[in-house]
Amino acid sequence: MVSPEQIARVPKVLLHDHLDGGVRPSTVADIADRTGHELPVDDHAALGQWFADAANSGSLVRYLETFEHTVGVMQTTEDLVRVARECAEDLADDGVLYAEVRWAPEQHLREGLSLTGAVDAVREGFAQGTAEAARRGRTIHARQILTAMRHQARSLEIAELAVAYRDRGVVGFDIAGAEAGYPPTRHLDAFEYMHRENAHFTIHAGEAFGLPSIWQAIQWCGADRLGHGVRIIDDIDISDPERPGLGRLAAYVRDKRIPLELCPSSNVQTGAAASIAEHPIGTLARLGFRVTVNTDNRLMSQTSLSREMGLLVDAFGYDLDDLRWFTVNAMKSAFLPFDERLALIQDAIKPAYGI
Ligand SMILES: [Zn+2]
Repeated sequence: MVSPEQIARVPKVLLHDHLDGGVRPSTVADIADRTGHELPVDDHAALGQWFADAANSGSLVRYLETFEHTVGVMQTTEDLVRVARECAEDLADDGVLYAEVRWAPEQHLREGLSLTGAVDAVREGFAQGTAEAARRGRTIHARQILTAMRHQARSLEIAELAVAYRDRGVVGFDIAGAEAGYPPTRHLDAFEYMHRENAHFTIHAGEAFGLPSIWQAIQWCGADRLGHGVRIIDDIDISDPERPGLGRLAAYVRDKRIPLELCPSSNVQTGAAASIAEHPIGTLARLGFRVTVNTDNRLMSQTSLSREMGLLVDAFGYDLDDLRWFTVNAMKSAFLPFDERLALIQDAIKPAYGI
């Protein structure tokens, strides 16, 4: 068995993590005190638990309310720099070597920030956090994915922003928000623009809404990766475990090596999986899908990438070889240039896992 200490020590790669889903509770409280943002509990020591309880409530309304209070304290240059800096530090402390952290710039303009000002602030925060981690002997490479909200109509503008910053720390584009009623095809112009610019994007799909959402994300929009994609399991007949039957869409996803950004704890909290032990990741990994392990919202799920890996070790008996496989899968699937991905795999990941 792999010990929690081993999991924490080995380098890990994180492709699906929300900046506004990973703020430290103490930082939410600090900034709220200064700016007058009203929090749902007076006792700031209880704030972390409030976020966790809301995420565990089974109510989507309560879950979404939590983001009001993180986004609400990320509205100025100073506060975005701080949150991004602490994000890079926290991930580095967890042994994350490479992270793509996503966030939606359009949600951070309430106090007068411009879109470019907001992206610059997060870039500065990542630079500071990376430098601080290095002082503590930790290496982290942190990049941004810019997200557009699927119920809004700014996706083309955000895609253009991602391309404008492609050589300045932004590696890709994404859409997020409620799937039902807001299919990815609503943002086709943004995805077609990304294609024409030879740029990368992932799409939140197949979390709440199932196969039609995954099919649209891949076959209409041409997503490079699937944000969650966990419901691809609905296209696999596992009634005979010896002879799993893959439907056309599941077979396509596996054949094309389309990465699945699975987030075990988050998938359980949103009902996309019944429990960690019953999470489709076990079956999908066994069938050779390009599976990656992610955190989604570290604050709401009270988790870290090491903790997610540990939960999978406990549920599926994974060993260090399995964790290396997840990690190499993720590094191969990153939106970083090929030579940089290869260098991290060869020089940092494989030696640390004893290869
Ligand atoms: Zn997500």
